[in-house]
Amino acid sequence: MAFKTEYLKEVMETVIKRNPAQPEFHQAVREVLESLEPVIIKNPKLQENGIIESLVEPERVITFRVPWVDDNGKVQINRGFRVQFNSAIGPYKGGLRFHPSVYEGIIKFLGFEQIFKNSLTGLPIGGGKGGSDFDPKGKSDREVMAFCQSFMTELSKHIGADTDVPAGDIGVGAREIGYMYGQYKRLRNEFTGVLTGKGLTYGGSLARTEATGYGLCYFTDAMLKDNGKSFEGATVVISGSGNVAIYATEKATQLGAKVVAMSDSNGYIYDPEGIDLAAVKQIKEVERKRIKEYLNYRPNATYTEGCSGIWSIKCDIALPCATQNEINEESAKKLVANGCYAVAEGANMPSTPEAIDVYQSNGLLFGPAKAANAGGVATSALEMSQNSMRYSWTFEEVDAKLKNIMVNIFNNTRDAAAEYGMPGNYAAGANIAGFLKVASSMMAYGVV
Ligand code: NDP
Repeated sequence: MAFKTEYLKEVMETVIKRNPAQPEFHQAVREVLESLEPVIIKNPKLQENGIIESLVEPERVITFRVPWVDDNGKVQINRGFRVQFNSAIGPYKGGLRFHPSVYEGIIKFLGFEQIFKNSLTGLPIGGGKGGSDFDPKGKSDREVMAFCQSFMTELSKHIGADTDVPAGDIGVGAREIGYMYGQYKRLRNEFTGVLTGKGLTYGGSLARTEATGYGLCYFTDAMLKDNGKSFEGATVVISGSGNVAIYATEKATQLGAKVVAMSDSNGYIYDPEGIDLAAVKQIKEVERKRIKEYLNYRPNATYTEGCSGIWSIKCDIALPCATQNEINEESAKKLVANGCYAVAEGANMPSTPEAIDVYQSNGLLFGPAKAANAGGVATSALEMSQNSMRYSWTFEEVDAKLKNIMVNIFNNTRDAAAEYGMPGNYAAGANIAGFLKVASSMMAYGVV
């Protein structure tokens, strides 16, 4: 799809010129601006007030050196990032990603998406994201701790419970959050809700671990039901075997589906009788091993090297929960050919623009990441509320709030798409619904 207005063409050209060699960021901006075009045409004040130009420029980008010492006594240097993208509706909020592929363009794409996602939750949180090119895989606990402490030593100068509240993402789970929170507390001598995804004994929220995967299924369930379908009896393929994938598998199964495949960055497992999630949890959460080990628990399952083949498995519903651009046009066509009727994104931007075109031109139901995976950040915002109140809700209370938020996100997404003449286009609906609240706050502030 191309831009119809000269104005947006120029904004996009400026983004590319100002942020060279950051294709993921360009991809995320283009996708959002294309669907905002009807809103921009209808509201000339947005252009007069430079709202779009402001929106695509982060409020602040922080890059820093992270020195630490490995188990051989050698000094290692990584690069740390925090992009504080937009604080129009609340403190910056968004995860930290530790993965060798991390560079400024990845953090900017994630931070930009986070603005709309956070707005969609209906909670008062702005958009940010951070991380490092550090790879926790294969490192000892001591090495991970040394890295996290060094990372937080710098990051602590830029964050705070009312300023910027990071959380986990790829490569950052309970262990990493614990080390970082401990270091923050030590440096600042304060016990505040500066990170979310904390352990339950020091301010974490029940159901935060499950929230993104469960939330994805609540959103998908609402989308399916609105279109006369359901998880009951459906065959589901889920990529990844990390936090989001594991809890998406758990909830989809509870809702009556059979999950038959999962993956990691080496390959995928196929278990036509349904994934044994206890085995996956043991391998991934306890032993931190490769998904291939699953065959030790279920010898009748198969393992295939390489990730993209997972999309050639026949399924009704596909839930990509690993990483960006994991479904390309070819994989999307395979899903369609095998009769898949719904794709909902647990990972951020897992479908390429060409893959999304394939879903939409073949009438698949498509739940875009910024709506479908917003349950994690929504529950993080609930963790912030509990920290501020010095109070804890029960698992059932948090889960009920999460479910309610996800159903509201689906309804708002559907209604915004219909209002702007694109019924059923939930990708456009999510961008529009998320944008309107942020834009209205930015207008209220004047030129800031
Ligand atoms: P984890 O680190 O827990 O798990 C990531 C999973 O994806 C692992 O199975 C990993 O395999 C696999 N993976 C990572 N990179 C690649 C790659 N390049 N190719 C193939 N597989 C890969 O991360 P999360 O589950 O937290 O995050 C998964 C996705 O969900 C990300 O896109 C993240 O941004 C998004 N997300 C996460 C939220 C959260 O609350 N955690 C909230 C909203 C979105 P391996 O172990 O081999 O690396």
